[in-house]
Amino acid sequence: MKFVQQLNPSDSKLAASLADFVPAEVYDIHTHPYHPDHFGPQAWPFLREFGTQGCAEHRAALQRYMPSATIHGLYFGMPHPTANRPAINAWLADEVRTRGTALSRGLLLVAPGDNREEVAAALRSGRFCGIKVYHCYSGRPDTMNALVEEFAPEWMWEILHEVRGVLLLHIVRDGAIDDDANQQSLRRLCRAYPKMTLILAHIARSFNYRNARHGLGAVADLENAVVDTSAICESEAFRAALRILGPRRVLWGSDFAVSELRGRCVTTGRLFFWLHPELIRADYQAPSTTDITLVGIESLLCLREACEDSGLTQGDIEDIFRRNALRVLAPHLPSSARS
Ligand SMILES: [Zn+2]
Repeated sequence: MKFVQQLNPSDSKLAASLADFVPAEVYDIHTHPYHPDHFGPQAWPFLREFGTQGCAEHRAALQRYMPSATIHGLYFGMPHPTANRPAINAWLADEVRTRGTALSRGLLLVAPGDNREEVAAALRSGRFCGIKVYHCYSGRPDTMNALVEEFAPEWMWEILHEVRGVLLLHIVRDGAIDDDANQQSLRRLCRAYPKMTLILAHIARSFNYRNARHGLGAVADLENAVVDTSAICESEAFRAALRILGPRRVLWGSDFAVSELRGRCVTTGRLFFWLHPELIRADYQAPSTTDITLVGIESLLCLREACEDSGLTQGDIEDIFRRNALRVLAPHLPSSARS
């Protein structure tokens, strides 16, 4: 996979078609800045040669295909088994404060074995408005089968309830939001800690759109649970989210720097796979492989189709791209930001 630094003419044409859909001011609810010093030598090979990707690089990358003069971000480190999380978190807080927009905020990247009091102190300090967790820290060998509590233990939810913080959660297990154990965990924890907000990444990990169709109903009545759109490239996953949760609970996110790779995720049966031009055998490729566009562009095209098919208004679209994020983060933003 390659981190794309320059759009090709086909990308630019697709980007131009988004000009009357994407608003001038947006809030990216799911974005990962990156510093190469924070990871082992094998981590993120697609990014290594490009150096630090901070808030300014994030905005510049997206502005190549989004007509948005203002891009706020909810930033958090890239989870990886080799990640130096204390270094990532310290760098990220400084990066967001000095190079993010005034409304940008950061999440603390936390593992279950971390010191609870230190995490609580970091959140109470106001430097972070919530927690990012990931299955790779669950402590079991088959991390893709981890239960929610194995990488987002209850003590994290308790702290977030206290500080009215957000939890950015990428659920795993084959069924994702259509998995009974995941549904039970999320229902129990969201009800027990109603003052926190749960952001279910990737439409509750509906890379297979059927998971969204069959599973999102299980969280429909949990008012403190929302989904982000990041890296989803299936219009039907977005349509299901808009139908089941409504446009006030769908938040646009890029998943930068994944957004800058060519490719898309594809539903097949009960699974999904990532299709990247670098993975396609030469004799299976279309005449011009450069026509496979960026994940970020593909995701926006699919979101637009779903918004059109669902009859959304301009106000709904403003909600998805900005106002829902401001509402979710309101306890951590100046009162002037609440619209
Ligand atoms: Zn992500």
